[in-house]
Amino acid sequence: MPLARARRWHSPFDQNGKRAAVSVFLTQPAFVRICSLAGRDMENEVGGALIGLWRVDKASGEQYIVADAALPARHTRQGSAFLTFTQDTLVALHQETEDRYPGKRIVGWFHTHPRMGVFLSDYDIWLHTHFFPEPWQVALVIEPFSQIGGFFVRTEDGKLDNHEYYGFREILGRSGRSLVYWRNMEPEASLEEAQPMEGETDHE
Ligand SMILES: [Zn+2]
Repeated sequence: MPLARARRWHSPFDQNGKRAAVSVFLTQPAFVRICSLAGRDMENEVGGALIGLWRVDKASGEQYIVADAALPARHTRQGSAFLTFTQDTLVALHQETEDRYPGKRIVGWFHTHPRMGVFLSDYDIWLHTHFFPEPWQVALVIEPFSQIGGFFVRTEDGKLDNHEYYGFREILGRSGRSLVYWRNMEPEASLEEAQPMEGETDHE
């Protein structure tokens, strides 16, 4: 796992002890891209796919995903309190992933909940179960007004909570500075704190 260059962000529920089946890493370009897509329409739900890699850590046997890109969903139906992915949405996302990011996978999806908070609706759970069935596929929900977000990840026994979301790890760039501003996430201030690379100077 790319722990050395990552900063861990804890959700308020991360201490509840339920082990996620997969750890989530997000690159900074992906974070910026997702936030920009999420902010495109503040009145209606918007969403898309998280693109990246799925891996098993050789040392620990733990699964992790690294999302390093995002694609907006097309052929959707949406309103202020719903977003529907259609079969055409999925076909287009798979095609675009193949064309633009060969060798990468759809590691999950994201969507916004303007003024509603971070949770999965019954429909979101249905969509996740049917369109993103792999144990390592995750659902990110963003509330763009409150600037909060969270990852819904299946536990090792395959359960998916609709309310208790997980944090993630931000893969830092060369400056070592974080870009994450979600107000519900707390940075971990311990061992996993990112170290500047050798030869780099931190000017902060
Ligand atoms: Zn939703």
